[in-house]
Amino acid sequence: MENLLSTKDLCKKYGKHEILKNVNMDIPKGAIFGLVGRNGAGKTTLMRILTGLAEPTSGTYSIAGIKSNDKKILTVRRRMGSIIESPAIYRNLSAYDNVKLQYINLGMTSFESIPELLNLVELQDTGKKKAGKFSLGMRQRLGIAVALCGNPDILILDEPINGLDPQGIIQMREILLRINHEKHTTILISSHILEELSKLATHYAFIEKGEILQELSSSELMTKVRKASRLKTASTELLCPVFDREGIEYKVVDEENMDIYSDITASRIVSLANEAGTEVLSITENNESLEGYFMNLVSKKDGIS
Ligand code: ATP
Repeated sequence: MENLLSTKDLCKKYGKHEILKNVNMDIPKGAIFGLVGRNGAGKTTLMRILTGLAEPTSGTYSIAGIKSNDKKILTVRRRMGSIIESPAIYRNLSAYDNVKLQYINLGMTSFESIPELLNLVELQDTGKKKAGKFSLGMRQRLGIAVALCGNPDILILDEPINGLDPQGIIQMREILLRINHEKHTTILISSHILEELSKLATHYAFIEKGEILQELSSSELMTKVRKASRLKTASTELLCPVFDREGIEYKVVDEENMDIYSDITASRIVSLANEAGTEVLSITENNESLEGYFMNLVSKKDGIS
């Protein structure tokens, strides 16, 4: 797949402090690329460089094949929309006027597509309400609408789900998926929560202390992370021999909990538990495995640094 954005040995120092160390990253065209790292890992610094807000100390990057040291990068960057840290919106203007102002800034003369854009970010019914009176989620969505003005090829979003409530997170996810699917916009999105990104990202880079630890596609990640169902039962001890006999893959967590890796229905688990003389108290998806995978990568890095 063709890469829309690539970095080559990108480094950033503030004084003696190395914030980014030889960052090499390739973002395929059409991807939703998740940049995952803990607080202070260097995500914002990397995004600031890619959007032109900061200069790298060394190394280069290219957008749509144009290198960062080429003058044409300024033109290419117009094909980029971003939200870095907080959305660039005017609090005393309505959603419509915020978007209209951005259209004007970009030299656009027709405002016909504004309602469609507001519809895309689910702000079509906000009327004259000023952005200052919006919820955080609404402000973030307005920021995305502003970033989408001019129909950019790539959206760069720094932790856009930070601080959102669960419903706001779901809404944001659906909007980003829609933007990617319908407008074919490539999206670079950062987060410290892999679990959340995993619901939309097609590719990932894991960053820790300014270094990319791993870059992989979502299908590669899924094969590395074993999906498990967490079973809570009255007695794992009674269940183990029955599971062994049936060739079911599992790991005992403690006396009451076990993770099941085999693809097996809940009703079969219940019937095997009955046979073993115990009962099933609950079966849930064990979502910790993704975060566990990330933390494992990070702790390996800690171990060698
Ligand atoms: P967070 O989610 O907390 O914003 P992050 O992954 O985005 O984390 P950055 O904001 O890029 O991380 O910061 C990476 C490191 O660089 C931090 O240790 C931060 O203190 C440092 N840093 C960032 N900007 C500057 C600056 N202008 N001068 C000096 N140090 C900086």
